[in-house]
Amino acid sequence: MARTAWSAPAARLGAGLAVAVLALVGCGVLSAGAAAPGSPPASGRPRPAAASPRPAGTPGARRSHRPPGQSRGSPPRAARPLAGKIVGIDPGHNGLNYTDPAFLSRKIWNGREWEDCNTTGTQTAGGYTEAQFNFNVAMDLAGYLRQAGATVVLTRTSNHGIGPCVNWRSYVLNRAHANVAIDIHADGGPAWGRGFTVLEPVADGPNDKVIAASLRFGEYVHRALIAGTPLRPADYYGHDGYMLRDDLAGLNLATQPKVLIECGNMKNPADAAVLTSARGQREIARALAAAIIRFLTGRWPAAAAKP
Ligand SMILES: [Zn+2]
Repeated sequence: MARTAWSAPAARLGAGLAVAVLALVGCGVLSAGAAAPGSPPASGRPRPAAASPRPAGTPGARRSHRPPGQSRGSPPRAARPLAGKIVGIDPGHNGLNYTDPAFLSRKIWNGREWEDCNTTGTQTAGGYTEAQFNFNVAMDLAGYLRQAGATVVLTRTSNHGIGPCVNWRSYVLNRAHANVAIDIHADGGPAWGRGFTVLEPVADGPNDKVIAASLRFGEYVHRALIAGTPLRPADYYGHDGYMLRDDLAGLNLATQPKVLIECGNMKNPADAAVLTSARGQREIARALAAAIIRFLTGRWPAAAAKP
């Protein structure tokens, strides 16, 4: 099926979203989510806020070029739209999963059926692993979200561990009372296929109350990826970049609005070029951050938030 034309997104979405995504450029704090050595991967404990406001009234402060109404000593209000919000990020798989098949094959209850504890994930033809991609995007995303004022909860904080199991990942985010959460993955589809897919939950009991909100959040993720990245809705899987899934613990057990994003197809050379580049990973993370801000605040990030 035909993919959306490159030039279409801004026209379809209005300038607002394109500007909003661009507005996040330069907000990256790549080190914000770097794991503390020895920290347990399953803790999911939020790290301290990455950025704290500079003290006000610093003697000899430089001339301010801020617009009137913005205080000198703290970031403008619009720049921290997620203050007070908790966002869950689950970077799929883990870098050493392949070393422990017995652990991965443990059965966990996913709310509807028994499922493997975890899997190794896929990789590109060149051997770049999905686990690494997921983790890099998660760290970029965590940095953007913290910059926007959010408390971020991660299900793993390094890429050199094993697990945790998928049901535990859901538990960590549920326990943290995240306002919204996202599972980050990339797919291993047929080499000819391209594009991203938003995997969405199906009501199964535990997640009944968050289905409608999850579908709305998924739409924002879909729109933001089109507006902010070279990726397009998948042409080999799902329908126009969406797919309902009732067989995943990450979606079945979630008690907060949540989707799983398959950012692209690692087996496709063109997608892989985006997915393995630092720029591509940052663009994806920026788009996901914009979608989260839209979902939690009702607005796409304001252009005024541009540093
Ligand atoms: Zn995956």
